[in-house]
Amino acid sequence: MLAYTYIEKGKFALVEKPKPTLMEPTDAIVRVTMSSICTSDLHIKHGSVPRAIPGITVGHEMVGVVEEVGADVTHVKPGDRVTVNVETFCGECFFCKNGYVNNCTDKNGGWALGCRIDGGQTEYVRVPLATQGLNRIPDSVSDEHALLVGDVLATGFWAARISDITEEDTVLIIGAGPTGICTLLCTMLKQPKRIIVCERSEERRRFVQEHYPDVLLTTPEECKEFVLQHTDYGGADRVLEVAGAEDTFRLAWECARPNAIVTVVALYDQPQILPLPDMYGKNLTFKTGGVDGCDCEEVLHLIEEGRIDTTPLITHRFPLSEIEEAYRIFENKLEGVIKVAIVNKSNTTVYSID
Ligand SMILES: [Zn+2]
Ligand SMILES: [Zn+2]
Repeated sequence: MLAYTYIEKGKFALVEKPKPTLMEPTDAIVRVTMSSICTSDLHIKHGSVPRAIPGITVGHEMVGVVEEVGADVTHVKPGDRVTVNVETFCGECFFCKNGYVNNCTDKNGGWALGCRIDGGQTEYVRVPLATQGLNRIPDSVSDEHALLVGDVLATGFWAARISDITEEDTVLIIGAGPTGICTLLCTMLKQPKRIIVCERSEERRRFVQEHYPDVLLTTPEECKEFVLQHTDYGGADRVLEVAGAEDTFRLAWECARPNAIVTVVALYDQPQILPLPDMYGKNLTFKTGGVDGCDCEEVLHLIEEGRIDTTPLITHRFPLSEIEEAYRIFENKLEGVIKVAIVNKSNTTVYSID
């Protein structure tokens, strides 16, 4: 089978690999029908994920059909259409039992797929701890509707959940990339009084305006002033920082009102400064990233009910054989790209089950 592989720093290539087989009774083999490219894949390519292992198949956002399950896998069976969770977790350790699955102490716990073990930009993937890592896609939900559930949508859902948003709040979301928009969709479910999105790219601001007309939009340059004008108590009640750019951490806490919650979803390339003397007396609560991706079933229900729709984010589609071109467009943000779907040719009929 073909597998898009991390060769060395700066180089991914489509190579031939054997089809994976079950290694543990808790494994499942999933035939990948659709995968996507995430900014974290680019981080691996650029060498900024030290734990990524050269030789592994990349990709950690995918849907497919269960091909085979180990003896200990419950909850899914061959033939089921499933989403694959970006995180591998055991469901039994201290962290898992408390819902902090990102910190699962299993040897594959946390982000392993497409980083430390073979991922999903390929035809078949072995999913460890599959009872926790796979969720059945409801029949009325298409592969494209479910594609982002295991990673960027899980992240947006988690970010909105831990931010304790109420209907009285003005929420500032910094960044309208794929994760930022997923965060916006999940914030909208909480029905806050007002949502402000701050985004540098005019193209992406237009996208938000077009699809979510109730959202107020601003730019990083104007953000502080804009937030002051649109809030009653000197800043946003909740700030969700999803941009991870050079100055956006500072922007996040500067735009927060005293006693606000600032949720940092972003992954930064560089350390950030927490200038405590400057923020003394603001009494802020910070919450920091790594998604706990354990709400996928709930997210799939919300999609089934029509309350979340991420399909407008999928702006481009390519077969696996053209994944190089898909990366070129995604990496260089060409043609208004937000998300790319890699569709496996033999599996173009979404609902068919072999
Ligand atoms: Zn990702
Ligand atoms: Zn665990």
